[in-house]
Amino acid sequence: MAKESLHDPVQVIRDLKAGNQRFLDGISFQSHKSSLRKLKEYATKDQNPKAVVLCCSDSRAPVEMIFDQDIGDLFVIRVAGNVIAPSLVGSVEFAADTFGTNIVLVMGHTNCGAVKATLDHIEKDNQISTENIHDIVTRIKPHIYPIAQIPGLSHEEKLARSVNANVMASVGQLSYSSRLIEDLVQHGKLQIVGSVLDLSTGQVEFLNP
Ligand SMILES: [Zn+2]
Repeated sequence: MAKESLHDPVQVIRDLKAGNQRFLDGISFQSHKSSLRKLKEYATKDQNPKAVVLCCSDSRAPVEMIFDQDIGDLFVIRVAGNVIAPSLVGSVEFAADTFGTNIVLVMGHTNCGAVKATLDHIEKDNQISTENIHDIVTRIKPHIYPIAQIPGLSHEEKLARSVNANVMASVGQLSYSSRLIEDLVQHGKLQIVGSVLDLSTGQVEFLNP
């Protein structure tokens, strides 16, 4: 039986949107001093993150910074191309089961290198340098393949649509990725939400609020 969360998912999404707005406005609630104090407090007590964020490893997409969140706020899982693979599903299960975290935000971003590499692989039959990178590409490929086939669409437009499609595919896949997660989703105890960070503005767009 998964633990009950103390956080209201509707309020959590509001918090994240408000935090992103503070980031855009250049106003932050966080400071190094208060974060260090919080870290020391957490050292002797359990964590209670308000959300799981599964996002790309891209260095331009630092989750806590763009949502203006503090230490202990977010359980962050990062993987190139925000793909769904067994250890990542296990990480979501761990957070949901141990802390009762009831919301997962899947966050992609514009100009994603992993999605772009997959698109190039489809369009130009580019070679993938290693087996493990190939694993990531193979997971993204079926979700964006139909977009790559649309005639008359520019590469930029294909990439933008592929980023969104890849996020929503991860949202859908994660919902059915394990018995625990499927059960929590079906009983309304876990919400999985998609979003895309626009690197050119810093704004996060929520795809299914
Ligand atoms: Zn990326």
